[in-house]
Amino acid sequence: MFLGVDYYRIADLLSEDERMIQQTVREFVDEQFMPVIQKHHRESTFPMEIIPKLGALGFLGVTVPEEFGGPGLSNLVYGIVMQELERGDTGLRSFASVQGSLVMFPIKAYGSPEQKKQWLPKLASGEKIGCFGLTEPDFGSNPGGMLTNAKKTTDGWLLNGAKMWITNGSIADVAVIWARTDEGVNGFLVEKGMPGFTASKLDGKFSLRASDTAELSFQDCFVPEENRLPNIRGLKGPLSCLNEARFGIAWGVVGAAMACYDEALSYSKNRIQFNRPIAGFQLTQEKLVEMVTEITKAQLLNYQLGRMKDEGKAKHYHVSLAKRNNVNNALKIARSARTILGANGISDEYQAMRHAMNLESVLTYEGTHEIHTLIVGENITGESAFK
Ligand SMILES: Cc1cc2nc3c(=O)[nH]c(=O)nc-3n(C[C@H](O)[C@H](O)[C@H](O)COP(=O)(O)OP(=O)(O)OC[C@H]3O[C@@H](n4cnc5c(N)ncnc54)[C@H](O)[C@@H]3O)c2cc1C
Repeated sequence: MFLGVDYYRIADLLSEDERMIQQTVREFVDEQFMPVIQKHHRESTFPMEIIPKLGALGFLGVTVPEEFGGPGLSNLVYGIVMQELERGDTGLRSFASVQGSLVMFPIKAYGSPEQKKQWLPKLASGEKIGCFGLTEPDFGSNPGGMLTNAKKTTDGWLLNGAKMWITNGSIADVAVIWARTDEGVNGFLVEKGMPGFTASKLDGKFSLRASDTAELSFQDCFVPEENRLPNIRGLKGPLSCLNEARFGIAWGVVGAAMACYDEALSYSKNRIQFNRPIAGFQLTQEKLVEMVTEITKAQLLNYQLGRMKDEGKAKHYHVSLAKRNNVNNALKIARSARTILGANGISDEYQAMRHAMNLESVLTYEGTHEIHTLIVGENITGESAFK
């Protein structure tokens, strides 16, 4: 059983309820997910049977109020859940991030009462799956250039364009699609099976293999007016969703780093070379000390960010700093853990390489490392390097 990594007694800062939820997720990952991850990673599939279980435990849409089927818990608890899920695999956390932060959040924040009633309880239970389409083949870091557009008709909209790299894309029942209109960027709830809408799974990924990634295409796809998110216009819509998801990522990657450190530490104590455990070599100790130091710093950063978010004080640049720092360090930790495992480190019998490959995606998605540098850089200098 995974016991966690808590060098600075951060658990002491949590309430009893928060610690209990952490333990519940940890046990869930150990019992339900770890036994199947190797198979799904090899076959590049997502374990669909786990979705209703995630829903039943309240791990989808953690902050969504009870009236809409969520558990209505704090942002800090959401962070803890993401951390413990990603200890299993980034694909598992990505599923929950997308469902909660990128699909339920915009419906909750910007949807009509009917849209909330129709979608939120089913998304919270896992009966329905959602995805979020912002990135396009030619516009990633600069979503403001998007080509996907919606033209007004008498009773709805005609959607044309393509979205690329969409997590959960080919398994989703509903896609939150951001498109340019005469009134600025709008969000649309595009449902599976709507004529003109197709989703094709992307193959050949070295990273996030146990996660569905798809390309979506819209050809004169008719979307009724009641499927448009009525209460948001402009790029701030999708950017506000990303801010929610990035918060979860900052927490999630610490889980991946904890898994790698835990594995490398125990391996180093058992692996004998030159007649002694490799844990006894100074160079190995330096690697392990670097890992536990960066994990501890990231945990403290997340804890304060979580409390700030719950108090309404966390700004988008605070989230960027945590996403940038924690992903970058988690990736370094995964690579370093891989070296401690020697040749075994490249095998999927162990976790380090899988986490390292996954974290390469996380470095890029939800705002690349470079873009988060520019966000924090703009905030501290008052000079925007984007323009
Ligand atoms: C596995 C996976 C899942 C994903 N899931 C989703 C999803 O569910 N929904 C969704 O909408 N998108 C998703 N994405 C897309 C992701 O958000 C984009 O890949 C990301 O925003 C970067 O865009 P890009 O790949 O087009 O890179 P580009 O924007 O082309 O960037 C390429 C390089 O140029 C750098 N760069 C760009 N502009 C600047 C600048 N101004 N200054 C300095 N450097 C710059 C970048 O940092 C990067 O290093 C996913 C991606 C992956 C890999």
